[in-house]
Amino acid sequence: MEFYSTQISNLIEQLSKLPGIGAKSAQRLAFHIVNLPEEQVKSLAGAMVNAKAKVRYCKECCTYTDNELCPICASGQRDHKYIMVVENPRDLAAYEKTGKYEGVYHVLHGAISPMAGTGPDDIRLRELMARLGKDVDEVIVATNKNLEGDTTAAYISKLVKPLGIKVSRIASGVPAGGDLEYIDEVTLYRALEGRTDM
Ligand code: ZN
Repeated sequence: MEFYSTQISNLIEQLSKLPGIGAKSAQRLAFHIVNLPEEQVKSLAGAMVNAKAKVRYCKECCTYTDNELCPICASGQRDHKYIMVVENPRDLAAYEKTGKYEGVYHVLHGAISPMAGTGPDDIRLRELMARLGKDVDEVIVATNKNLEGDTTAAYISKLVKPLGIKVSRIASGVPAGGDLEYIDEVTLYRALEGRTDM
């Protein structure tokens, strides 16, 4: 039996497709949205449509950006000889919040996972390798400390080391199985400082 109008049901259904939004949250959000002033709903919807239309991958590091290059890659203040490899833009944001890392990043948008059928070609590894033709001193692998992250790290090391470029892995200050985005800034910074050669 339908409790709500078709439009409300449709809104709830769309919202419940978002990650982390269960049926109850979707309902709560849907009611919240229909109670908002029309202008606010328009800017919410507009922000989504614009983000989807304008956001693209940085030509260098593959993070999300509005321009050809993200602000970090475009910055002359950053040390472009150090490339920190992370799984996703949220991890990049976590390291940026420490305010201590001066190098640049590379965002893989995933990790190698034979279980999930994600191979090296499904993440942005080719783009990383293409960057290594330039002057690079170190590739810091900061993928998550779990099976997928470790597999990815080992794979990267195997590809990069023969090029004569140093490859390091963030320290185990990051708990095993830990998702980087949930770890506090001090722990992240220590993990970076305590990185070891691979
Ligand atoms: Zn970039």
